[in-house]
Amino acid sequence: MIEVIKLSKKYHDQYALQNVSVTMNSGEIVGLVGKNGAGKTTFLESIAGLIKPTDGEIKINGKKDYNYHVIGYLEDNPYFYDYLTVKEIIHYYYLMQNKKIKSEKSDQLLLDYGLLEKRDVMVKELSRGMKQKLAFLLAIVHNPKILLLDEPFTGLDPVNLKMMKNKLSQLKKKGITIVLSTHILSFASNICDRVLFLDKGKITYILEGSRLTEKALEEKFNEYVV
Ligand code: ATP
Repeated sequence: MIEVIKLSKKYHDQYALQNVSVTMNSGEIVGLVGKNGAGKTTFLESIAGLIKPTDGEIKINGKKDYNYHVIGYLEDNPYFYDYLTVKEIIHYYYLMQNKKIKSEKSDQLLLDYGLLEKRDVMVKELSRGMKQKLAFLLAIVHNPKILLLDEPFTGLDPVNLKMMKNKLSQLKKKGITIVLSTHILSFASNICDRVLFLDKGKITYILEGSRLTEKALEEKFNEYVV
């Protein structure tokens, strides 16, 4: 469970997040929608510990000083070690987690994500969508309890979008808390249990349950964001 309590982040004299409070439960997929600059990345980066909030606090399972290893983070425009092969980068991530490298396991992961044939290809030679899938795979390689995904669907074709949706459902069933930002409202309505509308660093509306339809998302987006 993630508790965000009165969270604020100020850059210069402007608030990127202002007094945001929300609780996200195990096995829940929470969507973040909002215009460019609304504060979605800042929200995710704060939970991931990549930036220090100006005010407020974040607790995971009741603990303020949580171990960041419980988190998997997919950043927007992921940075890659371009001159490593796909296999090398996965093994590098295993090593960072002090885990033994199991080639069969990494091959299985690559197979699951349709990347096995790219195993010995340098990362710089992958397409945008392939890099996005690799970045997702790297975010989950250490079996995190919390998955923070900044625009995870960027660059994916319809087949891979469906695959990603299935993967997220499987992870949800395992009790993993997933928080994702997206500009694709149809996807947010389709996959999320709850959608938070962010505008100028504040949560302005929440849609959930049977009220969470694509039509309602579009309507409320126009009302509470634009
Ligand atoms: P997008 O949909 O474009 O990815 P977003 O909702 O993720 O946008 P953020 O990246 O969280 O928005 O940015 C929120 C606000 O904080 C913006 O006004 C942005 O200019 C500002 N901001 C973000 N990072 C920094 C930074 N490192 N220094 C100064 N201002 C920043």
